This record gives sequence, C-alpha cells and structure tokens, in this order.
Amino acid sequence: MLLTLLRKPKSATFAAVNLPLSVKFSLLFSTLRHPQPHPFPETQPLEKSALQSLVLSHFHHGKFHSLLQNVVASPSLLLTACHNLRKHGPDSTPPPPLTLDSVSAHFFSVQELSFQLSKNCLDIESCCIPIFPEANKGTSLVLPNLKLKVVLEAIRIVLEVIYDDRFATFSYGGRANMGRHTAIRYLKNSVENPSWWFSVKFDKALFGSRHVEKLCLMLGEKIEDNALLDLIRRLFECKVVTIDLSGVCLGRGLPQECALSSILINVYFNVFDKELQELRLKTNKKNPKFKENELVEGPSDSGSVFYKPLKIYAVRYLDEILVITSGTKMLTMDLKNRVVKFLVENLDLKVDKLKTVIHSAVSEKIEFIGMELQAVAPSILRPPKTEKAIRARKKYLRQKEVRLLELKNAKERNRKKLGMKLLNHVHKKLKQSNGFKFDFRIENEVRQVFSTWGDEVVREFLKSVDERWEWHRKLTAGDFLSLARIRDKLPHELVNAYDNFQNQVDKYLKPVKAKKQLEEEARRREEEEEEKYAQRTVEDLTRRCIKVDAPLELIRKAIKTVGFTNQMGRPRPISLLMVLEDADIIKWYAGVGRRWLDFYCCCHNFRKVKIIVSYHLRFSCILTLAEKHEATKRETIRHFTKDLKVICGVNGDEKVHFPSEREIKMMGDKILSDPTAVDGSLTLALIRLASDEPCHRCISHFCDRTDTVVYRIHLLQKYLDLNPLDENNWVPQMGAIHDSLHRKCAPLCSEHISELYMGRLTLQDIDCTAFVDVD
Ligand SMILES: [Zn+2]
Repeated sequence: MLLTLLRKPKSATFAAVNLPLSVKFSLLFSTLRHPQPHPFPETQPLEKSALQSLVLSHFHHGKFHSLLQNVVASPSLLLTACHNLRKHGPDSTPPPPLTLDSVSAHFFSVQELSFQLSKNCLDIESCCIPIFPEANKGTSLVLPNLKLKVVLEAIRIVLEVIYDDRFATFSYGGRANMGRHTAIRYLKNSVENPSWWFSVKFDKALFGSRHVEKLCLMLGEKIEDNALLDLIRRLFECKVVTIDLSGVCLGRGLPQECALSSILINVYFNVFDKELQELRLKTNKKNPKFKENELVEGPSDSGSVFYKPLKIYAVRYLDEILVITSGTKMLTMDLKNRVVKFLVENLDLKVDKLKTVIHSAVSEKIEFIGMELQAVAPSILRPPKTEKAIRARKKYLRQKEVRLLELKNAKERNRKKLGMKLLNHVHKKLKQSNGFKFDFRIENEVRQVFSTWGDEVVREFLKSVDERWEWHRKLTAGDFLSLARIRDKLPHELVNAYDNFQNQVDKYLKPVKAKKQLEEEARRREEEEEEKYAQRTVEDLTRRCIKVDAPLELIRKAIKTVGFTNQMGRPRPISLLMVLEDADIIKWYAGVGRRWLDFYCCCHNFRKVKIIVSYHLRFSCILTLAEKHEATKRETIRHFTKDLKVICGVNGDEKVHFPSEREIKMMGDKILSDPTAVDGSLTLALIRLASDEPCHRCISHFCDRTDTVVYRIHLLQKYLDLNPLDENNWVPQMGAIHDSLHRKCAPLCSEHISELYMGRLTLQDIDCTAFVDVD
C-alpha cells in the first residue's frame, strides 16, 4: 500500500515542478479524488527532457508500467497535448499559452479528464461523434471530440518517447524530422546502382480486430499496462482510430486519420523493419565492401576495375514500402517473395500480389510517396555544360576582364590628372614667390611618387609575356653591332657595352620561360578536362542514381479535374469559387500552389511544377476574379497586378498571398520538413454564409475567439459529382475528404479561416465534431 502511494506522486512531481514537495503531494491526492477548480495553478506544458524523464521513471524490469494512470493522465502531459494540437498562423502573434484554467474555462475540465483517465473510467463512446452525410446517404464518419483528441495526442506523445529511438532508420512518416523529403534525400544521395525494385501494395481492407490484437501484443512487449492497451482497443472498436492500409489518405492531413494512427502503424511494422534490416546486414556481410587497394588490378591500369557490391535498400513511409537492390532479377524476386511471405504470415496482412511486382529500375518508373522514381546515369541529373554554355561563360569572363581593365585605366587617368594639377599648382606658387620661399621641400615626396609610379609601370610591363616578347624581338633583331666584321673595327668598350646590353635584354625580356609556363598551364587544363570527360563517361556507363520526378500527368489530370484548365490545357475560371471574397479566392489558389511547390521541391522536374503554379494557377485565379467582377482579363490584371495583390484592412495595406513569379523562380530543394499533400485544400472550398447566426466559438483547436463567421464546407467530389473511389474519374493517388463533411457548417475566426484557405491548417486541426446546424 505504501509503495503504491509513493509511486503515484512520482509523476506528479513533474506535473507541478515549481511547488514545494509537500504541497504537490497534497494537491495531487486531492485532485485525483475530488476534482477541484484550481488545484494546479502553475502546471505548464512539458519540455522534451521532462517528458522523457517522466515516461522513463515508469520503466522497470524491462517494461513500462501504469502509463495511463500516471503519465497519460498527468495534467501537465494533457496540457502538453493541448498545446501540440493548437495551431496558429506564422504571421500572427502567438496566442497566450494555454493553462489548465483557460482550457477548463472554455473547453473541458482537464482535471476531470485526468481523474477519469487515472481511474480508467473515461466514457469513450460519448466522445466519439458520428458525422452523418447529407440526407443520410452513404457511410458516416466517426470523429473524436476535442477532449478525446487530447487523449489521443497524449497517448501518441507517450508512445513517441518510448518507440521513436527503436524504429528502424528507414522508417519514415509520423516521426519528427523523418518525413517524405528526408526519405527522398536518402534515396537520392545514398542508393548506389539500383537495378531492380518493388513496392508492396496491400489489398483493400481495414485494419481489423485481428490486427488490433496483434498490435496490442506488440505494444505489450514494451508496455505492461492493460488499462492503456484496453483503451487503444476501444478506440479501434469505436472506429475513432482507423487504419486503411490500401487507401491514399495516410499522412495527408485528412480528418479520417490522426497522428496516433501513424505511430501505431510504425509500431506494427517495426518487426518487419527489423527483419528487413537483418536481411540487409546479411547481404552486406556476404558481399563485403572491398577497399580500393584490395582489388586485383587489371592488366593495363588500375582504373579498369569496377566492383559493384550487392546491396539492398529499403524505405518505408507509413504503409508504403519500397525495396531496392543492386543485384540480379532472380535475387530481387527471391527477396520480394520473402518480404511478402513475412508480411502475410507474421503481420497477417493481405498483399495485392498482382500489383506487387518487381520492376527494372533503369527502364521503368515506379511510383512512391507521391513521386516517380527512376534510375538514370549521373549525367542526366547533373548534365555537363553544353558547348553553348561554355562559350557563354568564356564570353562573360572576357567581358569581366575588359570591364576591370577599363576601371583600372580610368583610375590611372584620374590619378595622373590629379598629379598634374598638383604640379601645376606648385609650379605657379614657385613662380609667384620668386623661387625659394618654401616652408618645406617637396622634391623627396615628388621623387617618391614618381618612383612608385615607375615601379608599377615596369612591374605591369614585365608581367605581360606578349609585351616582353615584342620588346625582346625588337631589341635583339640583328644590329650592325652584332656583325662580326663591323665589331672588329669598333672601339672595344662600345662592343662590350653592346654585348652587355644584349645579355641584360635576354635576362629580363626573354619570354621563353614564361611562355613555357603558360603553355604548360594550358596543357594541364586540357588534360584535366579530358580526364574529367573520361571519368564522366565511365561513370555514365557504370553508375546509376535515382531521379525523382513529380508525377506531371497526375498533376495535369488534377488541375483539369478541379477545373483550373480546360480540355486544351489552358487556364479557365472556377465558378464554385466566385461567391468567395477576392482575398479568399486568392488565398485558396495560394494554398493549393504553395502546397504543390512545397511537396515537389525535391523533384528533378520541379521547374515544370513551377510553371503549372506560376502560369496555370495564377491565370485561373485571374480569370475567376475577372468573371466574378464581370471584367476583362486585362482590367483584372491592372487591378490586382500579376502578383495578385489585395488591399486589406482599414489602412489599405497591400498583401500578397500568392507566391510571386520571382519567388517561385528562386524556390529550390531546401525544405526538409514533412510536406502535407495538396489533396485536403484542393478538394475543399469554404463558402461564407450570409446569416445572422448567434456567435459561436471558433472550432480550430483551442481557439477561444467568438468573433466568428459561419462557413459552409463544399467538397469538390460532390460539386463535380465524382466518386473518389473510382480511379477512372478521380485522380489516382489523390486523397479525398470524407463525403459526410459536405455542406457542414463551421464557425471560424478570421485568422483560422485564412489559415485553412492557405492550406497551412488542415481539417485535422479543427474540431469537426463542433459543426453547427444552420437551416
Ligand atoms: Zn480561431
């Protein structure tokens, strides 16, 4: 009894760090038993290290114990979860930090939740809100309310602390700093000579109760806490946490998914990752990497030995698995069979065997995490400079040299002018004062100036091989003094002096040595160039690296489906958006454009994505604005400019939301954060309702503003009357927001509606269970 009593406060010491120990004890017990309005006046969100020590303090005998009761339920952890869920725009001033009081006052009582969790008596069913589609057609969607979302996030935080270090290095998605772009960077930089590859496709089936049981067994290996595992089981039963392995909605910010499911997928696939890692290590051991000098040299020269060690690479982004080998087709086939067998037998998953086939890396493209991969020669990724580019470069360098020379000459001229002026002045003075009435003598100074000038000129002259050559030629080109017959008749001193002079000319002006040096330099450069060319050619023939492309066809299909372009691929207006305000129309386009730019910035053909955003989206936006105001395209451009500036606020400030042409041009492969796909903002329009509804609170997580406007959600698939499940009509690999959100009404404050339009906020970041009824 005493032990359990003592253990409990341990977590609470982290919760209320600044309080004296005795107070903490009494506070904790009082709240756990009777929720009170102000028990933890100073509870603050946890820093990462505090979080880690809080979780680790429940680790003994190889397992974590009573996590739900003492860690998840801890008010400070719940507050941390609240903090994680809250999003605000990058431009706005951050809102004041959440406290237990502010959350309790506006949203729900954290103390009560903490108590319910610690006693394991949280009524989950009442927190799962079904969202019914219009006229009750189709399936409903079950979403957690804000309180349950906080619990999900709290569980995710705890699991992240426990598991993140244990995941394989090639497991991406749902992890900090391990997103799509990091995976792509790995593929681009580390994979050598891929020859065959395959990606695993799963059959369409939800993560069923069998899988949940398996998942709980896996969690049980590290966590001995039946209450927590039961809670996770119940979350799946209530369908508030779902995992759809064959779907495309994972990692896309759609409301069907939550961050907890990402980490659960990673936990589920962890054994598979370990198995694959083992296989990789075994292969590497069987095919040790030779050091350069251990290789047997070829008969003619050492450069002719090419050794390609057999390697296996793997990348897993949530449920997308890509395995790459540098070996033969047979070996890859064998590997594929083993991978599929493991997934079927050990993870109880259904693999679509028709779609899980191996492809040649060189001759076929493969689709992975929304991008297209292909193995190509290095020169395709970094093409050598064309003749034209080289010529242009040379021309540029020459022009630069000329400009430099002109600048120098101008300086010289000015200096001389100034010197002459000075001399003139001095001379005049000298005349006026009849000679010798100086305070000081300037001869020395003048002499010095002249001597430095002289030195400079000589040095400059001697630097130039051509000038020396010319002078040398002139001075040594036969003179009568060199003719033997005449020399005899001339005074001895004169001939001697002449010979001496010739020697000096040879010594200082003979350009042979310098010329040789120049020639040597040129030859070396040429040789280097040749060597580089040879190396490049050999590399092109022997090395392969991965080229990552944006799927342009899919993007084109998407922009046609949404209606940015007509059948001819020309920009056209979107009539659905015309009821929006000007700024919102531009923000909507900006949200789509920026997301595409973010998502594909690592691609080789990024330039083409830029054109689509910079031209097709921009002009579709201009045309939409034009049609809305019944103006011509020219008038619209005159009003908004091509950068789509809008005047906002009472001060008449101009704001630019859409990336400018210049900004787009400068964009490159720099962002490494996990980008959110465009699907969520592309298929969603929020239309302001003209109604005098009573004030509602903004439904963005933990936003307490009540100066809101009600917006109605319009979904693209409903508007176009398309079924997202039908791949022929819909764009494959593009997710869709669940039908049941169509025509729902959401009260939002001005900041969060703007963020939603701009695509920085997704439907995952708003409380979809708090929609209001407007009829
Ligand atoms: Zn808000």
